[in-house]
Amino acid sequence: MYCKTCGKEVKEGDIFCGYCGARVDDQKENNMSNDLNNIVRPINDGSASPRSRLITFLLCFFLGGFGAHEFYVGKTGAGILMLVFCWTGIPSIIAFIQWIMIICGSFKDAEGRPITMW
Ligand SMILES: [Zn+2]
Repeated sequence: MYCKTCGKEVKEGDIFCGYCGARVDDQKENNMSNDLNNIVRPINDGSASPRSRLITFLLCFFLGGFGAHEFYVGKTGAGILMLVFCWTGIPSIIAFIQWIMIICGSFKDAEGRPITMW
């Protein structure tokens, strides 16, 4: 195993690092369980998005053709696409459909959580 503080190799079973003196035992196990929690935790846990529906609504209405609401909800890729193609007018049509979805509460953020809180 390796010291988390200085990165030097430490003998298995050692409590303290021989190079910097930092505690090295138990750290590995803790990191493993943290990693496991991150893998097991689903992206969409069924909760609503913490993002404001009102802000999404307003951004989509005024700047929807430029993808401003997509940037706000974390969909950066979609936002860039809409920004690049804003001159075609197509993003404005998409934004109008999404604006209706926002009103209905079926518009989702980048994590797949519905934006329902005004
Ligand atoms: Zn060390």
